[in-house]
Amino acid sequence: MASRTNGQSAQKAVRWEYAPAPEARQIVKLQPRYGLFINGEFVEPLSGQYFPTLNPANEEVLAEVAYAGAEDVDRAVRAARRAYEEVWSKLPGKERAKYLFRIARILQERSREFAVLESLDGGKPIRESRDVDIPLASAHFFYHAGWADKLEYAFAGRKPRPLGVAGQIIPWNFPLLMLAWKIAPALACGNTVVLKPAETTPLTALLMCEVFQQAELPPGVVNIITGDGQTGALLVQHPDVDKIAFTGSTEVGKKIQKAVAGTRKKLTLELGGKAANIIFEDADIDQAIEGIINGIYFNQGHVCCAGSRLLVQESIYPIVIRKLQRRIQLLRVGDPLDKNTDVGAINSLMQLRKIEHYVRIGLEEGAQVFQCECELPSKGYWFRPTVLTGVSMAHTVAREEIFGPVLAVLTFRTPDEAVEIANNTRYGLSAGVWTSKGSRYLAFASKLKAGVIWCNTYNKFDPASPFGGYKESGFGREGGVHGLRAYVALEGE
Ligand code: NAP
Ligand code: MG
Repeated sequence: MASRTNGQSAQKAVRWEYAPAPEARQIVKLQPRYGLFINGEFVEPLSGQYFPTLNPANEEVLAEVAYAGAEDVDRAVRAARRAYEEVWSKLPGKERAKYLFRIARILQERSREFAVLESLDGGKPIRESRDVDIPLASAHFFYHAGWADKLEYAFAGRKPRPLGVAGQIIPWNFPLLMLAWKIAPALACGNTVVLKPAETTPLTALLMCEVFQQAELPPGVVNIITGDGQTGALLVQHPDVDKIAFTGSTEVGKKIQKAVAGTRKKLTLELGGKAANIIFEDADIDQAIEGIINGIYFNQGHVCCAGSRLLVQESIYPIVIRKLQRRIQLLRVGDPLDKNTDVGAINSLMQLRKIEHYVRIGLEEGAQVFQCECELPSKGYWFRPTVLTGVSMAHTVAREEIFGPVLAVLTFRTPDEAVEIANNTRYGLSAGVWTSKGSRYLAFASKLKAGVIWCNTYNKFDPASPFGGYKESGFGREGGVHGLRAYVALEGE
């Protein structure tokens, strides 16, 4: 797509060129074909079917992965039920904790291998998989290991008990991290698991099965079944699942909520978002620009809590736009395995088409677009970091989740107007506020309808801090004590 500016010419940015610095790929030993991980071992799918998973940076087929059909899903749920009844629910918390500690440590030891595989299968820059995804995934296992023998102190005198078999379905944007967010609390609380990773990013979940084996986790405590949306639907519908934990789109979340309505299944949903990143005139603008860039171009904008709407106070609009235009020209888009890469590949062709579609609509509705003018690789799925200006809340690009590296910029005059715009969305997952006044932040944040609000920073996560949304961004929390609540029933329930 041709780059068009909004009439304000970007200051020429000086871009240093570096020699390529690729992370060695050889550390990953891929098998040509992967089975389903059921009852502690890899098995052939009863469906007899396999599907390929690609490297979105060059369209290379990395491996074939088993497709779980109805009989496979049933087999996995039965293995989880047996493990729950015979082993896991009988183990004292301190014994469960030992397994979780072991898993966390092995993951740390194998972190480079996991980081490379995550970047290969999903397209995210190695810098992120190495510095964010894998360390946080390991931290989630460590954190929950610490809870496993202290659950009775978590709920003020009410004794918790596990729910049973948890069916867990995760998306492709943080494949290993979402797995850790789901499996660590479930196991800490004494549940067993059947987890389905996303179709385009199953490989780190399958490598994780080796970690479970290394940690000698009892067979059937975690089962990983690969497949597509139909596999996920079969897991949701299975009568012997006690709890469904889903992270993904609001559209699929609604279908799942309908499917479990009227059953005894517990449900938590972590869905989409359209976060406002709000910059006041008293903010440190350079710091804010870095946060805005991180908030939307981090992980190609494939982030549910991405700061995809930038709300700028009118008085500083010209300087913010000028600095933003300059800064996006400095982003390095390209080989996810290169340690200098800022923005990697779009996860799939389908997602690329969706992003292109939204930017086209943005243009048709009158927005101005400016983009990073970098060269893009000839193969694979790529999209230039993009800024859309001249946008109001009437525009589609300000309302709908694009889930790509596309920032929609809006303006406001007063804090009240900023609150109104920020909350004028069907979502409510996260928000960012940039101001040098603590009092302003505190007063302002309490009016925002968002589950997570960052001040003078963005996209910071910690296993002890609960994460989750308001409104159509879902319900239930992951992380912290709040996250444990989703995997236990309390005395009297
Ligand atoms: P998606 O289409 O909803 O898919 C999520 C998962 O659900 C995938 O494993 C998918 O399988 C599976 N699935 C699809 N249809 C299903 C059905 N009818 N029943 C059960 N499972 C089904 O979402 P996505 O496009 O992969 O991920 C992007 C979305 O996730 C965005 O909206 C983003 O905001 C949201 N997200 C939210 C959070 C959060 O914490 N709130 C975190 C990350 C992402 P296949 O992929 O194999 O088809
Ligand atoms: Mg892939």
